[in-house]
Amino acid sequence: MATKLDQLYSLRKKFTIIGITGRTGSGCTEVSELLSKPFCELDNIRVPKGDAKSVFDKKYLIVYNYTSQNWQKYNVVQYKRVILFILLPFLYKEKAKALELIKDYYRFRMKDEPTTELIQKVDEEITAILNSFNSVVLKIIHINVKLIKSKNDAILKKLYDIFWGEDFFKLSHSIDECLIKNGLINRICLLHHIACNFRKSGQPFKTKEKSPEYIYFICNIINLIIKATKRHCDSGCHIVIDSLRNSLEINFFKERYSAFYLIAVKNDKRKTRLKKLYNSHSELVINRILEIDDKEYLCGDFQKGNFDAPDVQNCIQMAGFHINNYNFSEEKDQGYISSFHSLGEQLIKLQGLIQQPGLITPDAQERIMQIAFTSKLNSGCISRQVGAVVTDKEFSVKSVGWNDVPKGATPCSVRNIKDLQYPETASGYTEFELGRGLKETEQINGNQTDKQSSDELDKESIDFLSFVQKAYSEQAMPMEKLGGRNCPYCFKQAYNAFSGEKNQVHTRSLHAEENAMLQISKNGGEGLEGGFLFTTASPCELCAKKAYQLGIKYIYFIDPYPGISRNHILKSNPNHDPKMISFSGAVGRDYHKLYDPFMSQKDELSLLTDFKIESPEDVKVKQLKSLLKTKIVDNELKGKLDELFEGHNNPLERFIEILKNGLNGQKNMP
Ligand SMILES: [Zn+2]
Ligand SMILES: [Zn+2]
Repeated sequence: MATKLDQLYSLRKKFTIIGITGRTGSGCTEVSELLSKPFCELDNIRVPKGDAKSVFDKKYLIVYNYTSQNWQKYNVVQYKRVILFILLPFLYKEKAKALELIKDYYRFRMKDEPTTELIQKVDEEITAILNSFNSVVLKIIHINVKLIKSKNDAILKKLYDIFWGEDFFKLSHSIDECLIKNGLINRICLLHHIACNFRKSGQPFKTKEKSPEYIYFICNIINLIIKATKRHCDSGCHIVIDSLRNSLEINFFKERYSAFYLIAVKNDKRKTRLKKLYNSHSELVINRILEIDDKEYLCGDFQKGNFDAPDVQNCIQMAGFHINNYNFSEEKDQGYISSFHSLGEQLIKLQGLIQQPGLITPDAQERIMQIAFTSKLNSGCISRQVGAVVTDKEFSVKSVGWNDVPKGATPCSVRNIKDLQYPETASGYTEFELGRGLKETEQINGNQTDKQSSDELDKESIDFLSFVQKAYSEQAMPMEKLGGRNCPYCFKQAYNAFSGEKNQVHTRSLHAEENAMLQISKNGGEGLEGGFLFTTASPCELCAKKAYQLGIKYIYFIDPYPGISRNHILKSNPNHDPKMISFSGAVGRDYHKLYDPFMSQKDELSLLTDFKIESPEDVKVKQLKSLLKTKIVDNELKGKLDELFEGHNNPLERFIEILKNGLNGQKNMP
């Protein structure tokens, strides 16, 4: 419904981009499909009770009432359709290479030899599909060529018509069906590699070339689709991208659009969900999907410098709105805290807050997670920043923490590895790092000013120093390439490389969670029985144990990767086990975007309705009388004034009459 404020909110109302990220099987597609439905087709949304009593019930009612009038349908940009869109010209131009592409990547496992018959079959089927959609295929090839030269209005209009047109929809659907039918996993592998190749070299094919300029190759096309939609769709531009799995691509949209929101979809029971989804497929297929997902989740390829690869863990950390995708009824009886349950409910909350920031206030979990999220930025760890908060059972914050070295030691991020080339003058490094570490405890505890002869020095320490000096030499990390940046190093990474270990114990830092828990005993101690631990990652086994011992009852986490802590440490005794709860709601920059109102609700209401509130007349008359009495000194006149105001039914009318007479009398005076 149109209101007087629409002009003020028009940017939010007319233009919003939502990106979706999450692990395979979490339900990213389910969420984007829900966003594309009308309000009446959202299922699993509780109709609010008329007699909402609790604060949560009242908030729920507000969100429900608002979104039932303002729910916005989104158009889904499927990432795979964008890939097909830019792939078609390549397939057409170089038919032989297309077959090559299928041969290269259409496999169950990369090491498997491709089955010639299957490849033949897929190639033939795809060729047949392309032939039957010849006219739209030609249009797509044509527009791709045009887009390279110009992005003027007429071309964007064509892009808009083709991309959202029925023909392209049918074409991409047919190709998808064909690929799925011939090999569920093979299709995933094919798409994965084509997308990576595009981001690596701007081409779908295997190539040695790679350049950072192509990282945004696919994003740029999505961006053009957004622009075309913004310009040519009358009802506004509301787009959901299903899905984004590369953190650099997410940055692309974050930097461009203040109306960009990233949703992370999480599901504890992904395997069960996948089994249901692909019930005709074997366990082997499901396991392979999860295996691929593990690879795309942990940012291993990223750390190796392959920035074109998916890094879903990083993506989830960047999300501003977290959604839990579990069965509503399963969790209902837990009742530990009231919240928006189903996918639909979480989405109406998001939409309500996008369109009307501050529609409701954040809940306690969001408030505390936001503090943890803010704290994580203080971490001096150069690989990953984590924040944590512990509260009592009333959500009163008892302490905050982040992963960092013990207080007094120098955080990794402010050290400069270049200093280690001159160990005599380097500061902030340990004796061990400086090549002066001694294994024997008596020597560690001995007088440090004692000069040690060089043969007494621990060989490992000396070896490590020269290893580090070589590994981080000027040749390996030239200053000029750093462009003025500091050059810290990670001791754990270096020591593990040096010793051939993979040991997490060598970290210099305390974990955020243990840091937060330790702060409490440092500052005098306070019981945490029944309290909460919030972490922007998820607790490791060591931290989970500590939380357990402190009597913490609930652990809220963001990373859907609790390792074995969840089923091992945290599943010991159902009466005492802390509950792990996947965080849902807003966090980070989006917390402010969603909860910070444009103007006060009071001002907004008066703008909407021209509403003014006035005092009743008798109150105004009293105010007038007291004003007059403060100004009149003459006691006789004061008495008359009392008479006037108290002796009449309508003192104001009488007062005006006297005033009129007085003024007229004055006029008649000679
Ligand atoms: Zn570190
Ligand atoms: Zn930990």
